[in-house]
Amino acid sequence: MQNIDILIKNCTILTMKQKEPIKNGIIAIKNGKITFVGKERKKDNFKTEREIDAKFKVALPGLINCHTHVAMTIFRGTAEDKELNSWLKEKIWPLEAKLKPEDVYHGTLLGCLEMIKTGTTCFVDMYFYEDAVAKAVKELGLRAVLAPGILSTGLSTSGQQMLESAVEIYRKFHGTASGRLNVWFGPHAVYSCDKQTLISVMEAAKKLNTGLHIHLAESAEMAEKIRLELGISEVGLLHEIGFLAKNVLAAHCIHLSKNDIELLARHNVKIVYNPVANMKLAQGTAKIKEMLDFGITVGLGTDGPASNNSLDMFETMKIAALLQKLTYKDPRVLPAWQVLKMATVDAAKALGLESEIGSIEAGKKADIILLDFKKPHLTPIHDFYANIVYSARGSDVDTVIVNGKVLMENREVIVANEEEIIRKAEKTALDIVNR
Ligand SMILES: [Zn+2]
Repeated sequence: MQNIDILIKNCTILTMKQKEPIKNGIIAIKNGKITFVGKERKKDNFKTEREIDAKFKVALPGLINCHTHVAMTIFRGTAEDKELNSWLKEKIWPLEAKLKPEDVYHGTLLGCLEMIKTGTTCFVDMYFYEDAVAKAVKELGLRAVLAPGILSTGLSTSGQQMLESAVEIYRKFHGTASGRLNVWFGPHAVYSCDKQTLISVMEAAKKLNTGLHIHLAESAEMAEKIRLELGISEVGLLHEIGFLAKNVLAAHCIHLSKNDIELLARHNVKIVYNPVANMKLAQGTAKIKEMLDFGITVGLGTDGPASNNSLDMFETMKIAALLQKLTYKDPRVLPAWQVLKMATVDAAKALGLESEIGSIEAGKKADIILLDFKKPHLTPIHDFYANIVYSARGSDVDTVIVNGKVLMENREVIVANEEEIIRKAEKTALDIVNR
């Protein structure tokens, strides 16, 4: 008999390694890892004080949000129904100029709380003061890839200075919090970083063997501006300086030519599809079907909560599928199973963490969510994947486990005082606007 920390029993398990659900299953967790996944009859092989009865519940790998700016929860509702340029220049950048580290900390706590309550266990964040983000993520128990934002235009700090402070954050936090924190670099975009900054950031990432997260081809206007000024596409420019590589995660990728897609595929660049923010800011639709046909790894993201305005990955999954179906006028495009893969196994691959997370299998980190399926809108169950992608909501998530630690059970967040986080974030948000 094996001593373990947690046993989840009476469970339907969607491992995402295989399509066939495991019914009447159990999951054994020890030292933050999954040690066994299989049938209920093996239950007596394990001994534990902590059992979770998952009757009427479905276990999934925790969802992974591949692109957000989580502290922007505090700007939710401040810049509504505007086109991207004025959204950024008239509203968001002036607010961000007033930001202090403690604002980012409170905004991140609020975002982490929302993610726990909607089943996201890991996210990629690009923002300022990532050390404050790290502190909040550490406290709330989530897993994250932090990409300190680097810009060389429009700020008083130079690109080189921002890179230096990003390297400092890397040295301080990469691999900490029991391995829950990873630090990459976040050159903001081709239009906001000059060539030399992009090259320096790329070289620093190479030297430290870490990843790069960048906004790419989000705005048609910016893409056109670069083409007119430099005579090359955003992707073409990145290719020219040797930036495109397997450690690059590019958000949006809407305005791409076939040649651009080919270049991204050839260099094994990973893509994040952010359908809700792209629709809300009316930026266009990424050609996900073509990218998948080229064998590109695609993850899903919400983008920041000021342009979405939610961090609910269930909503993102549904809209991700619907938008592609509509765009290609073909309901067979992006079936539910594939969309859920994009939010789990494929996302893990996009983050280079496929050996650690993304599926429920022995040896992987125990990042697991339980969905309560005893709900009118999830009945009947003919197809688990269709119910999850087309009918479920973030509020159906009952239990969240990250690194073998229970963060929420029966929808009650165990690791934090929910009321206090909401109150402080609200106060911070009002304070910044009036500052
Ligand atoms: Zn973004």
